[in-house]
Amino acid sequence: MTAPSGFTELPFDPDALREKYRAERDRRIRPDGSSQYLAAAGEFGYYAHDPYTPRTERSPVADRVEVLVIGAGFGGLVTAARLREAGVESMRIMDEAGDVGGTWYWNRYPGIHCDIESYVYMPLLEELGTVPSKRYAPGEEIRQHAIAIAEHYDLYRDTAFHTRATEMRWDEDADEWIVSTDRGDSMRARYVIVSSGTLTQPKLPGIPGIEDFGGHTFHTSRWDYGYTAGDASGALTGLADKRVGVVGTGATGLQVIPHLARDAEQLFVFQRTPSSVDVRDNRPTDPEWAAKLRPGWQRERMENFLSILSGEEVDEDLTQDGWTSTARLQRKMISGAVDTTLEPTERERRDELADFAKMEQIRERVDSVVSDPATAAALKPWYRYMCKRPGFSDEYLQAFNRPNVTLVDTADHGGVTRMTENSVVVGDEEYEVDCVIFATGFETGVSGVISGTLPVYGRHGVELLDAWAQGPRTLHGFYSHGFPNLFHLGSLQNANAVNFVHILTEQAEHITAVIAAARHAGARRVEPTAEAEQEWCETIREVAADNSAFLAECTPGYYNGEGARTGKSNSYGPGPIAFHRLLAQWRSERLSEVLVSCEVESTVA
Ligand code: NDP
Repeated sequence: MTAPSGFTELPFDPDALREKYRAERDRRIRPDGSSQYLAAAGEFGYYAHDPYTPRTERSPVADRVEVLVIGAGFGGLVTAARLREAGVESMRIMDEAGDVGGTWYWNRYPGIHCDIESYVYMPLLEELGTVPSKRYAPGEEIRQHAIAIAEHYDLYRDTAFHTRATEMRWDEDADEWIVSTDRGDSMRARYVIVSSGTLTQPKLPGIPGIEDFGGHTFHTSRWDYGYTAGDASGALTGLADKRVGVVGTGATGLQVIPHLARDAEQLFVFQRTPSSVDVRDNRPTDPEWAAKLRPGWQRERMENFLSILSGEEVDEDLTQDGWTSTARLQRKMISGAVDTTLEPTERERRDELADFAKMEQIRERVDSVVSDPATAAALKPWYRYMCKRPGFSDEYLQAFNRPNVTLVDTADHGGVTRMTENSVVVGDEEYEVDCVIFATGFETGVSGVISGTLPVYGRHGVELLDAWAQGPRTLHGFYSHGFPNLFHLGSLQNANAVNFVHILTEQAEHITAVIAAARHAGARRVEPTAEAEQEWCETIREVAADNSAFLAECTPGYYNGEGARTGKSNSYGPGPIAFHRLLAQWRSERLSEVLVSCEVESTVA
């Protein structure tokens, strides 16, 4: 085995590491896969209740808007903002939450920050004339930014919050959708945009006896400050005399645990798989730097970040953080350009060595920070860099040096064994606690349309999930034949990236361009032909990256369907930058193909 460039002699044994990774994966794999989780619904519905905004009664609505946007996270907000700029006045945003913000509405846990640089993550900064206060902005600042977008573009007009769409039916005669909701509404809309699927539904671990626990309990995405006191910046004084258990050490656990460690009398961290925890290096925005930013700076920075992550050539790395420095490793999971000068096996060999080197560095960092050797050993991740969402923190590992913090490794038991009236049990050990906090994540990439909780009936009453029985069928991931004027945002037969807001921003702009063209042409319907849809499905099948071999070796998690995912991804293999180029070209050459029945009409509302 020869060393990767930069190494004269390998400081690790690749064969031993490969074997160790496999052993750790096998130790972690569970036969029940994804079905080990419980939805925060039905008996457990109280875990998903909105603790932030009281629900107010209102009369059912039966009216008509030109555009209905389902989902008030950044995808829905940016689309609505761009549509306003394009002159759409009659528009309603609907959300199950009590206000805008999506993920940032729900997640207000102590320590919450963006783990992507906020200058590239937070959308429409230049349009709103603002620059974030920190390189990685706190969650509350991001939520306030979502509110500022809604105010700036007058999006609060006609909103329907605490409202869930329950059915969509296409009215052939009127060329519009009839949308029913859990509030008894029957709203009509010429266009419907669904942007509600990224990380919405909280997930609970299916721990035997979870319902028997008599102490206090909640999910991190519904933080109970009434119990803990304090706010997202900490000071959880309500925990000063409490024994707290936290289940989960993913991206959320990493941010929340330092605060719990500081404020709880006793903290038990129930870990199943350790996260990789690299340096964060957060800092306040330099006012001199901000003052010198030129118009177009945000777009340029976003493109630069995405280009580096997609393997495109750039002159300079404007962000220079833990994401851009590991771009090559990320392309195992997220598509992009690859070095075609190398044979695939040689490329894979070099990628694997670079991966081992990075993970060795992550493991060495654990030893250099955590004083107790047994705790340090349990905190070391043994898998390839992109098997799980990489983590960053300058406080997390340090928390385990506190005398009131105990790391409980549950890996040998497939997670927490059971819960009793007043304790969490792992193997034969019982840990008495007053409170259990679940940092156990979300259903990912599943809007109501995909999960079936929002049935959609298109032309001739055809149900969308029947049309998609063999998998999603779309043009560019956005719309389907037989389902006119219905647009999906999210990752569906298109491109993906760790800065998902950038992906949503491009999608918002594309959909706005299509709707603007339809309005300009007086088209009543936007719908791809069956041929165009088929062509795109074939393109995706041909170019989708095949990362199944990589995922099969990974420790289980939502990236690999808890170890069960096989086959190619559904994502555009050449990566997001290439996909955005393709969309731009399509807009200039073929956009008119999706416009149907061009009869000029002046107003819809
Ligand atoms: P994750 O799904 O990443 O983590 C869930 C955690 O719960 C894992 O550590 C998991 O262990 C653990 N777990 C689940 N079941 C059990 C069990 N039975 N016993 C013990 N442990 C259990 O959820 P997160 O909320 O941390 O993150 C979800 C996503 O949200 C991230 O991947 C990221 O995309 C996003 N996020 C983004 C942030 C940002 O700043 N942009 C911040 C926070 C989250 P195991 O790994 O073994 O399955």
